[in-house]
Amino acid sequence: MEEIGHWINGKRVAGTSGRSADVWNPATGEVQAKVALASTAEIEAAVADAAAAQAGWAATNPQRRARVMMEFVRLLNRDMDKLAEALSREHGKTIPDAKGDVQRGLEVVEFCIGAPHLLKGEFTDSAGPGIDMYSMRQPIGVAAGITPFNFPAMIPMWKMAPALVCGNAFILKPSERDPSVPLMLAELMQEAGLPDSVLQVINGDKEAVDAILDNPTIAGIGFVGSTPIAQYIYERGCANGKRVQCFGGAKNHMIIMPDADLDQAADALVGAGYGAAGERCMAISVAVPVGEETADRLIEKLVPKIEALKVGPYTAGNDVDYGPVVTPQAKDNILRLVQSGIDAGAELVVDGRDFSLQGYEDGFFIGPHLFDRVTPDMDIYRKEIFGPVLSTVRAGSYEEALKLAMDHEYGNGTAIFTRDGDAARDFAARVNVGMVGINVPIPVPLAYHTFGGWKKSVFGDLNQHGPDAFRFYTKTKTVTARWPSGIKEGGEFSIPVME
Ligand code: NAD
Repeated sequence: MEEIGHWINGKRVAGTSGRSADVWNPATGEVQAKVALASTAEIEAAVADAAAAQAGWAATNPQRRARVMMEFVRLLNRDMDKLAEALSREHGKTIPDAKGDVQRGLEVVEFCIGAPHLLKGEFTDSAGPGIDMYSMRQPIGVAAGITPFNFPAMIPMWKMAPALVCGNAFILKPSERDPSVPLMLAELMQEAGLPDSVLQVINGDKEAVDAILDNPTIAGIGFVGSTPIAQYIYERGCANGKRVQCFGGAKNHMIIMPDADLDQAADALVGAGYGAAGERCMAISVAVPVGEETADRLIEKLVPKIEALKVGPYTAGNDVDYGPVVTPQAKDNILRLVQSGIDAGAELVVDGRDFSLQGYEDGFFIGPHLFDRVTPDMDIYRKEIFGPVLSTVRAGSYEEALKLAMDHEYGNGTAIFTRDGDAARDFAARVNVGMVGINVPIPVPLAYHTFGGWKKSVFGDLNQHGPDAFRFYTKTKTVTARWPSGIKEGGEFSIPVME
């Protein structure tokens, strides 16, 4: 059986803790590898080596650091097929979707090529008599990233690329469920010219995460994952004096107004609800048609589209719409929530529970589910299901629909489908959610904007990627410099004021 270790000091090394976790092939249901789970001592040693390497990397001029990113982009494109195959084999998502996972990470690396410009700082000439003032952005030192299973290429790249190009060393603790791609990314970074030890990829579970949280050398932590863990990491990291940003779970509502193009809305819901088996933090999991007639027409259009979805293994290439979920535990959890919806009285319009695929009976496949007449008190509405399950909550009016999205504890993404510019504009202005789509179901901002939710979908203040990432991974230092002509006159005892 393959044993997956860590990437430390520029090479793959085996774990030494004696602990490991199963890595599944979700399509076949087999354990395909064992991944090492790092001990506190392994984390501490890797962080110390990263800290030693960081000074030299920070002293490398920004243009040279950016050139490493430029070459990394070329290598990602060269190895796209290989990365996508490894990703799909451990995650289960389709090959085109796995390529999208790599691509959306790659775009953030492209943005990082602009680091020399983004790190330029500010300068005020003659802020006072003979006084210049300038602010510069300096790396925070050693940063760490703790990432989820659902985007094993994109999110590690969202974390590592801005951190590294700013001159930091970086400790990546990827999800233990699909650890292969992050290790391949580290190899490509080395090939692109990144000095050894500046990037360490260490696999692990809670023990490794706690060792990161308590390590005094690590100055900043970027986390993406579920909300309870996000909150835990934020609180413990902050209590230890670190800069921390944590992105959590989601329950994204799509509001369908009576004037919407319902064919377009139904297509959007099917893609955004069931793509990647619903294992996306920007998946639409709640459809909110406004008015009974809209709801009836929408359901009528949705059912045949959902029933026609092709579920299968990634090896089927373009012939599948979505694949299995990631682990048997994920499958059990999703089916348990489906049962709770039935028990609570929601109407299961499309039932995917008995889905089975010939030749893949042990894979973690779940057929698509559509619930109608879901109400806000139900668990299937309150909780993040993270599976191919779309819930419909019927709203009597636009205000009622807006209130649903506003009252939900999560605030990652949301969308409105309408032909009415006034309603769309009002929605975008008032809704308390971080990313809003207008006739766009998955409004993931491009690399040069920033990504982040509101409410319980985030802990911390700056967003991911875009200019915010450069703010998160640098500290501002402001220098006030006087080249004196009159310092002989003696010291000044009142607070200086620029006149
Ligand atoms: P998860 O919270 O289970 O795991 C995320 C990371 O935390 C992993 O590296 C894992 O090893 C670690 N971890 C897990 N349990 C821990 C514990 N008890 N103590 C310390 N560390 C622990 O999340 P997941 O299942 O891998 O990913 C799915 C979740 O991520 C969903 O909730 C999804 O909405 C969310 N997500 C959010 C965003 C976003 O940008 N807001 C993006 C992608 C995914």
